[in-house]
Amino acid sequence: MTRENSVVVHLEDVHKVYQMGTEKVHALAGVSLEFERGTFCAIMGPSGSGKSTMLNLLGCLDRPSSGTYTLAGNDVGSMGDNELSELRLRELGFIFQSFNLIPQLTVRENIELPLFYLGWDAARCEKHSLELADRVGLADRVNHRPTELSGGQQQRVAIARALANDPRVLLADEPTGNLDTATGEQVMALLCELNDAGKTILMVTHEAEVAAHASRRIHMRDGRIERIEEGN
Ligand code: ADP
Repeated sequence: MTRENSVVVHLEDVHKVYQMGTEKVHALAGVSLEFERGTFCAIMGPSGSGKSTMLNLLGCLDRPSSGTYTLAGNDVGSMGDNELSELRLRELGFIFQSFNLIPQLTVRENIELPLFYLGWDAARCEKHSLELADRVGLADRVNHRPTELSGGQQQRVAIARALANDPRVLLADEPTGNLDTATGEQVMALLCELNDAGKTILMVTHEAEVAAHASRRIHMRDGRIERIEEGN
């Protein structure tokens, strides 16, 4: 594999400017970054430093005001809304602090959602979602609803859902923020396992212990990269 092929995420002098009345807020003020396949990176920094803006951009929920963002060879800034939705569905899995499961659906149905949007037939959806539930240690909970599960179990369902479309990149926003320390550690162990198996993981966190699991830590301040730490 050439280095060009192994770069999944490439930001080049990315700016994000919000207009607040007459004032411009530079939420990202010239960020250049590359993430190669298999990276596990934590994005850190004080409140207001641009972490959420960065995650929104990485997740193709927004486009840069200037500069370029290339995801798996696709120039995100030049894509329309439908193309971006397709790109998200194909290349990205999302894990949120508050799990964001659909309460009316069972564990299995929650995991199947991305597959449903990809147009898989029911039998294939079911088989794959059961495999994923097993992969995250919830094979015996597939017919339960999220409210019948602990926080750690709910986050594992959300991780299984994020994996359903076999995305190149998992984006995690404070994945342990709603969990106690021990449960949070279990969720981090699962993310580390997925990373060892080759998944690229980009995670926003403000907790140093959580970030310590990543192999790279990007510290942001005032919309810029303040410093990057390698190794764990
Ligand atoms: P963090 O996630 O690190 O707390 P954010 O990315 O949320 O930082 O915010 C970075 C800066 O951009 C802050 O000054 C914030 O007030 C501003 N900002 C974020 N989103 C918007 C928005 N939709 N409109 C205006 N300003 C915004």
